[in-house]
Amino acid sequence: MKTLEHESKKKAGALPARMKALVYHGPGQKSWEDRPTPKLKAPTDAVVRVVHTTICGTDLHILKGDVPEVSVGRILGHEGVGVVEAVGTAVTSVKPGDLVLISCISACGLCPSCRKGMFSHCERGGGWMLGHLIDGTQAEYVLAPFADTSLYKIASGMKAEALVLLSDIFPTGYECGVLNGRIEPGDTVAIVGAGPIGLAALLTAKLYSPSEIIMIDFDKNRLELARSLGATKAVAFGGEEAVKVVRALTGGRGVDAAIEAVGVPASFELCQEIVAPGGRIANIGVHGKSVSLHLEKLWAAN
Ligand code: ZN
Ligand code: ZN
Repeated sequence: MKTLEHESKKKAGALPARMKALVYHGPGQKSWEDRPTPKLKAPTDAVVRVVHTTICGTDLHILKGDVPEVSVGRILGHEGVGVVEAVGTAVTSVKPGDLVLISCISACGLCPSCRKGMFSHCERGGGWMLGHLIDGTQAEYVLAPFADTSLYKIASGMKAEALVLLSDIFPTGYECGVLNGRIEPGDTVAIVGAGPIGLAALLTAKLYSPSEIIMIDFDKNRLELARSLGATKAVAFGGEEAVKVVRALTGGRGVDAAIEAVGVPASFELCQEIVAPGGRIANIGVHGKSVSLHLEKLWAAN
């Protein structure tokens, strides 16, 4: 396995003029192509050589055409670990040669939203920028805005493959799924979608000692993995049947927290059908189509 330390010791020199990058060309179209290596623009920028990146469910939604603000020609990717190659004059917390984790959210750290800890709503040109409104991390180099408050130095001896999950997938499963689902000891929890983000919600839901974590997915392998990571029950996704099974597993009540980790209407509908009175639905999925909120059924369920 490639160690990060080895990467950081590679001699920093002049950056190459061109690099390889994965570029979006409209719904269903992408290509691995030659692009100019990014250069520092603002004094708060850094250029990072990407050592490890990954593909997010969000990238798949972009490629399906669900995220129309992504323009043709955009380099995809918002997750990664790498080595700082250059920093702007105002950057003080990282320097060339540092190993860093790239947050999927760029944050100025100073605006009212950042001060409230809502970095994804940064009002000074931050938020979810990488691979969305500016070029991203599925490339050899990436320009990281607000480097001081958007890059995190990595301790030595860490595995890039594990760390890259901290750019987005793992904390998003935790924040949007587990924290917004307000999971408490003894709760019954259902997670719809056992992909990486659903599994991140599973691992972090366990921190709150729920009595049941029911994992729901189409894919048998994913469900088996979920069981090995601590899911107490695994249910095959399939409309009516899944609703019946979850209701049977919870004494007819439904679950205290239903976490949506897919981003399609069927999975959000399922969450509404399996949530118990007084329960919570937490949505993680990136939705590209409108979904009905069935208040005609839910209004009286607290
Ligand atoms: Zn992501
Ligand atoms: Zn801000």
